[in-house]
Amino acid sequence: MLEIKNLHVRLEEEDKKILKGVDLTVEPGKVHAIMGPNGSGKSTLSYVLSGRDGYEVTDGTATLDGHDLLDMEPEERAAVGLFLAFQYPVEIPGVGNMTFLRTAVNAQRKARGQEEMSSADFLKLIREKAKELKIDADMLKRPVNVGFSGGEKKRNEILQMAMLEPKMCILDETDSGLDVDAMKLVSDGVNALRDEGRGFLVITHYQRLLNHIKPDVVHIMSDGRIIKTGGPELALEVEENGYADIVEEVA
Ligand code: ADP
Ligand code: MG
Ligand code: MG
Repeated sequence: MLEIKNLHVRLEEEDKKILKGVDLTVEPGKVHAIMGPNGSGKSTLSYVLSGRDGYEVTDGTATLDGHDLLDMEPEERAAVGLFLAFQYPVEIPGVGNMTFLRTAVNAQRKARGQEEMSSADFLKLIREKAKELKIDADMLKRPVNVGFSGGEKKRNEILQMAMLEPKMCILDETDSGLDVDAMKLVSDGVNALRDEGRGFLVITHYQRLLNHIKPDVVHIMSDGRIIKTGGPELALEVEENGYADIVEEVA
């Protein structure tokens, strides 16, 4: 489903190589985790896949269900089923959360050749999903993420994910800044979306998130490459020994 081959990426602004040959395949129904020290290129990978400006792909490919992601606009990538939950969710003053979600859901449906959702159906659906994530009605009316706490922003990301029903979900350090209760809520939200047709790429610096969202495969990223791949036990190894040992061992 998500297939990344030999991906090389350069940061345009600083003429700096960040990704140096990433290979990764995420199959439907699987949860892959990417762990790695700060600055190893994890966020860059998620940005490049979702189409953020400022990065130049100098080599390699990335496809989702055979669609060439790197050749598409961000909204086209979303339409074929890619979703990115940001490490730092963006505040959008002046745009109501509910309006934002309704517009996104209907754009997604249109791109998939489905009819617009009626107001009544949309309201019913969003109330149901919001309740599961303990997002109150007031937060749905406020501008997107404006004045939300860290935990509220992350829950709002998962609400967007639940509403858009993507095929491939990328979560970039969704656990950062969350207390234990908020992390449990977010993880429960993600686990509820696990499905045999849906893949997940869970990026995290810490092992603790992976106690809640159990990965099938764990990758370690360092200096723009995936240097080691294993099962869930690899995350525990990192927890115990830190990244330095693995980086050294591979070198
Ligand atoms: P991670 O998410 O693993 O912490 P990032 O992808 O954020 O890593 O960063 C990878 C490297 O690229 C780091 O050295 C970081 O400083 C650099 N980098 C990323 N984005 C920018 C930017 N916009 N300007 C300057 N350096 C950047
Ligand atoms: Mg970082
Ligand atoms: Mg990051």
